[in-house]
Amino acid sequence: MSVKERIELIEGDITKLDVDAIVNAANSSLLGGGGVDGAIHYAAGPQLVEECAKLGGCPTGEARLTKGYRLPARHVIHTVGPIWRGGSNGEPEKLANCYRNSMQIAADNGFATIAFPAISTGVYGYPLQEAAQIAINQVIECLNEMPSIKKVIFVLFGRKNFDIYTDILSNLK
Ligand code: ADP
Repeated sequence: MSVKERIELIEGDITKLDVDAIVNAANSSLLGGGGVDGAIHYAAGPQLVEECAKLGGCPTGEARLTKGYRLPARHVIHTVGPIWRGGSNGEPEKLANCYRNSMQIAADNGFATIAFPAISTGVYGYPLQEAAQIAINQVIECLNEMPSIKKVIFVLFGRKNFDIYTDILSNLK
């Protein structure tokens, strides 16, 4: 199966996905927040924040693994995206690291299926097109190195992001 065939796009709510791991766009406290983070904690139930509290936070660009509790997903990989401050403060590298480090955790734990939201594109203000390009480039690089990961699903909340990802993927060879 080609790398492109191992990538799937869905418009919808990541908390509904039955996969080995969903990725959470968390903040560095890992103690919950708004957006996708709030939705994941709400759906997972209170045990998730209890496990997160034991992790002692997470620096931007890194990732941490917990169980999924009441989610259909078995695990949550929490990663902290960069806050957009104009783009010349290391934002692209940090965002790429979020995808790479999350994929590495999935590979290290033998996960076959992983779902990502569009990290940093909500409250953190990362421009959608630039963020999508980084997400797809980084995931493709990782899929080439990580044959045990069979499927990466980008779960896009809203038509606009879905259309941007669709365009980028359809222009790949
Ligand atoms: P960040 O702080 O990293 O910007 P946000 O949660 O504010 O995180 O937004 C990240 C992306 O997740 C945005 O594109 C937002 O529309 C999307 N999002 C919000 N809720 C969900 C959800 N339930 N499932 C998937 N994506 C979601």
